[in-house]
Amino acid sequence: METLLLWLFYIYSLYAFLPGLVTRLFGFRVFRRGISDHTFALTFDDGPDPEYTPQLLDLLKRYRVKATFFVVGSHAEKHPELIKRMHDEGHLIGSHNYVHKTNWLMGPGAVKKQIQKTSAIIQEVTGAKPHFYRPPWGIVNLFDFAKRDDTQIVLWSGIFNDWRERTGAERLTERMLKKLRGGEVFLLHDCGTTAGANSEAPREMLIALERVLDVAKRKGLTSVRIDELIDTTETAKAAKEANAHIDPKASSPRAAAGAKSLSWSKRVLVSLWLLWEKVFHWMFRLETANKEDPMMHFRIRPYHGETVEMSGGVKLSGGDKIMELHFDNKKLFELGMRSKSPVQLAIKMVRGTEKEMPKLAQYVMDHPDLHDVKALYGVSMINRGPEQFGFTVADLPKGWFATSTQMYLKFLLRVIHPDGGSRLKQSAEQLVPKLILMPIEDLVANFLQDGSHRRISAKQEVADSEEEAVLSATIPSH
Ligand SMILES: [Zn+2]
Repeated sequence: METLLLWLFYIYSLYAFLPGLVTRLFGFRVFRRGISDHTFALTFDDGPDPEYTPQLLDLLKRYRVKATFFVVGSHAEKHPELIKRMHDEGHLIGSHNYVHKTNWLMGPGAVKKQIQKTSAIIQEVTGAKPHFYRPPWGIVNLFDFAKRDDTQIVLWSGIFNDWRERTGAERLTERMLKKLRGGEVFLLHDCGTTAGANSEAPREMLIALERVLDVAKRKGLTSVRIDELIDTTETAKAAKEANAHIDPKASSPRAAAGAKSLSWSKRVLVSLWLLWEKVFHWMFRLETANKEDPMMHFRIRPYHGETVEMSGGVKLSGGDKIMELHFDNKKLFELGMRSKSPVQLAIKMVRGTEKEMPKLAQYVMDHPDLHDVKALYGVSMINRGPEQFGFTVADLPKGWFATSTQMYLKFLLRVIHPDGGSRLKQSAEQLVPKLILMPIEDLVANFLQDGSHRRISAKQEVADSEEEAVLSATIPSH
């Protein structure tokens, strides 16, 4: 039963839940809204449709605005003439899968095929491989992130329920006008044949859109393609950053500003994420040695792997009790938000671990029922870090678990890393999760308050190499 729950936890959090959450939380590698004074972006999903798409193209032409079409491959295949017209009239074409299915229900291979097939259909007409992708219903999974190199995921900032006919042109106009300002990305639908939509709904959308375009024109706002809005946004961001360096008042620590700039909705999502963590703690009865300032949690369970030799020749075999360590995600999140650089984050994590080890040692001493626990056990990225603390580093048994753990750890590092993962990308091949093991007797001997001070040398060495130090910190194994 427990194993089944664990698997469900992994599948759910790895494949779907957390990436979706983080997408919304951090706008991470996903474009949702831009910065622009005079331009916004109209985007149309699910088409092309032989009835409504030509009407829409006429309307866009009349107002001399550009848009982005996220087309469904199977629809594009039936109407290449509409794809050609979009392209000839200067609109941008992106992919919205070959059939309109959510990526949650497809394996990574299937998602890839969906995009490739659609890309090929578009490329045949336009001569260019589409770069922009919008997953159906905006549902992103980890494998969508894996494709990030040649594909930019585009979500939206305004959604109006235009796929329902009963929303009606009136209400639709009202909703769109409320959102009408520079930088917004509007999601609309020029085809109503997908599941959950009404086939006549685009008619209402077209009526509303004409009114909105009228107002936009009067306000000096123009719809542009998503690639143009992204360019404008990047320029605006660069200018803002340059200003921040000139103005000393604005150059407050970047991380502190980041912490403050978390919006209300993001804070709600962070709470949800942490709530999920709580559920996990409750399900697996995680305990905490240092309750005032938790850095790590643990649970006691039997070891299932092959026999491993730890330091001092102590052997860990199947059935032995282990103390499995989990980093506190809230703590990691806070440290990440407050760190100005990877070095700082690494040092904070190492110091936190240092503070935690004596607490763990004391906890073991105080609980006679833990005296037969054989080893401390955790999952960490490969590096020299854990060895400095007296851990033995061993390979994870190969298989789906190791692969998924690796992906999850990479993902977590990106979330907590101040550089948003750009530097981690260079060292991606180093991000191999390993088992870290330490005999409980070593923990007690070396870290009980009056024990030796091996940990001091650990700090100095780790601080030497910033990147490795970041990778060296133990990351939760869930
Ligand atoms: Zn769609």
